[in-house]
Amino acid sequence: MKKGISESKVQRMRNIVKGDYTKSVNTQVGYKKSDKKVEGDVWEEAGKTWTIKNGIKQNISKMQSVRDLIKMPLTCPECDKVMRGQFDRYHWKVDKKCLDCFTLEQKKSRADGTYEKIQKELFKKIKTSQIKDITDEFEEWLDGNQTFVTELGEVEDWSGGLNKAELKAKFKKELLDWKKHLSEM
Ligand SMILES: [Zn+2]
Repeated sequence: MKKGISESKVQRMRNIVKGDYTKSVNTQVGYKKSDKKVEGDVWEEAGKTWTIKNGIKQNISKMQSVRDLIKMPLTCPECDKVMRGQFDRYHWKVDKKCLDCFTLEQKKSRADGTYEKIQKELFKKIKTSQIKDITDEFEEWLDGNQTFVTELGEVEDWSGGLNKAELKAKFKKELLDWKKHLSEM
């Protein structure tokens, strides 16, 4: 017996797409309670190498490419200061500059009245990078068995009777809506 489309399940992906990112952080793609892996485990599955990092199941090759992408240079490209610590790391990831440069930019923008505009730009950059992460996560989930493991270790199948093409179309539409929303801000 095929289950009907569960709106609540589609709603969860919608929440993720609309920026409730904690929900995707708290779920782990595609493994069952019985073979639950712990932080730092490395194993082979479906021809790929996986690990658990920060509580999330991740494809190692994907993580490496992400790491390369966000790898901080030794010095900030704007001020040449040596980059260090999690705050510089965060601002590098979002804004490609160090925290000091970011703070200075904020101060300046408050003075010359462009603060709101700069904040809006930053928000867009953060959202764009989240959309990229979410898209990767979604593709991976779609390639897998389309179940999610909740924080409590319960396996939920929330494809809701939709096939892959339908899920993809639904997700694509949500992404487009969100991108449209960002471009109109
Ligand atoms: Zn700097």
